[in-house]
Amino acid sequence: MWFFTEEQNQLKEVCKNFANTELKPKAEHHDEHETFNIEAFKKMGELGLLGITADSKYGGSGLGCTEATIVMEEFGKVDASSTLSYLAHSILCVNNIDKNASEEQKTKYLPKLITGEHIGCMGMSEPGYGSDAVGLQTKAKKEGDEYIINGNKMWITNAQYSDIAYVYTRTGEEKKNLSTFILEKNMPGYSVSKEIHKMGMRGSPTGELNFENLKAPIANRVGEEGDSVYHMMKNLDLERMTISGISLGIAQACVDQCVQYAKERSQFGKPIANFQLIQKMIADMSAETEMMRHFLYSACREFDNGSTDRTLAAKVKLVIPRMVTKIALDAIQLHGGYGYSREFPVERFLRDNKLMEIGAGTNEVMIMIIAKNLLKEALA
Ligand SMILES: Cc1cc2nc3c(=O)[nH]c(=O)nc-3n(C[C@H](O)[C@H](O)[C@H](O)COP(=O)(O)OP(=O)(O)OC[C@H]3O[C@@H](n4cnc5c(N)ncnc54)[C@H](O)[C@@H]3O)c2cc1C
Repeated sequence: MWFFTEEQNQLKEVCKNFANTELKPKAEHHDEHETFNIEAFKKMGELGLLGITADSKYGGSGLGCTEATIVMEEFGKVDASSTLSYLAHSILCVNNIDKNASEEQKTKYLPKLITGEHIGCMGMSEPGYGSDAVGLQTKAKKEGDEYIINGNKMWITNAQYSDIAYVYTRTGEEKKNLSTFILEKNMPGYSVSKEIHKMGMRGSPTGELNFENLKAPIANRVGEEGDSVYHMMKNLDLERMTISGISLGIAQACVDQCVQYAKERSQFGKPIANFQLIQKMIADMSAETEMMRHFLYSACREFDNGSTDRTLAAKVKLVIPRMVTKIALDAIQLHGGYGYSREFPVERFLRDNKLMEIGAGTNEVMIMIIAKNLLKEALA
């Protein structure tokens, strides 16, 4: 991007090298076997990426949405699954603690999460509450100097591997009375069940967290009781920007793979690159990828400059993953029967990208956010 600083270009280069050496060679294996590339994850800590947005005081890199998105794009080009797990750890858990927790909590939890000694996750969604996240029903009831937590968190990325979970709970009857807790996997009453088998993102572990009479000390509550909705929304915006970076990486991977295949594959006595219908598919996907790159990084820049426009992240998250699903479908089409087989990565690109139209808020929820803002005067 024309406005990337020298440091941002260097970060891009470091991530590209890491992606090609540590993620790419094993991406297909982990997708096929539904296993997690934990070795690569731990090495991300050595590179200083696990606390990309966190304060350097705790070992973080103190960078912004732009840099986090650069990592997502570069990793997303080769292995969207590992990138999703990286996002759940660094953006959903670490960034949330860094931005919202107390000094004591940060000192206690961040250093190990940032080196990779500990793995983190975030629990918002529940079996009965997804799009209606603010309706969540996991209850935290105050008793003396602790809270008793009961409930289940569904679809939690990294659940099976996490030492620390950043968990939203209900502390009052009023809809917005939500409070957050930092929970540790060895707290009595904390368990992980139901490994979820998925069509894509198969190298990213997804599970269900269960809390049964879990006793969390008041010291583990983040912020004041009942004040979590604002934090939740703020972090969701960052999540929507950065997760769109994974889609952007997949789009670029589709372009690169299609260019290569169009040169190698011959039909009617010449490489299929000669056929104008093939050229159109490649030209369209390349132009759309470049357009998305400009939109995404200029939105990241606005976010880093303090924009409070909540519809921007929703617009990014609506158009980019949706467009990349179309690009991935074209990439399969361009490969013909081979594209439909497991021999080429384009079918994985499609399966992985579909998640970005659902996680961090579905396309329909993004439409609701955008429309509600544009039409608010007219809404009854
Ligand atoms: C692989 C994966 C990883 C995930 N990781 C995490 C994680 O780490 N932490 C976490 O907390 N959550 C996580 N999630 C959950 C994710 O955020 C939810 O799946 C998502 O918010 C949608 O919720 P839902 O699945 O319950 O769908 P629902 O909310 O039940 O939606 C069903 C359908 O109804 C539509 N819909 C809902 N409400 C409306 C409305 N008002 N108007 C129009 N249409 C509507 C939706 O768009 C969708 O099409 C993950 C999900 C997946 C699949």
